[in-house]
Amino acid sequence: MKACFNCNSTEEQIPLIELNYQGKKLFICPRCLPQLIHKPTNLVGTLPGAENIRAADDV
Ligand SMILES: [Zn+2]
Repeated sequence: MKACFNCNSTEEQIPLIELNYQGKKLFICPRCLPQLIHKPTNLVGTLPGAENIRAADDV
């Protein structure tokens, strides 16, 4: 079963977006996607290396 890596919502519950990351495929749901864009450090613990991802808003 495909599930959001961050909140574990499944594709039965919510549309999932497929990500390619570090040679793997991950899935994220639309509720968690804004965090990946704007606050990637919120994903530390569920996404390896999240602490190294710069927020899209950082210039
Ligand atoms: Zn999610």
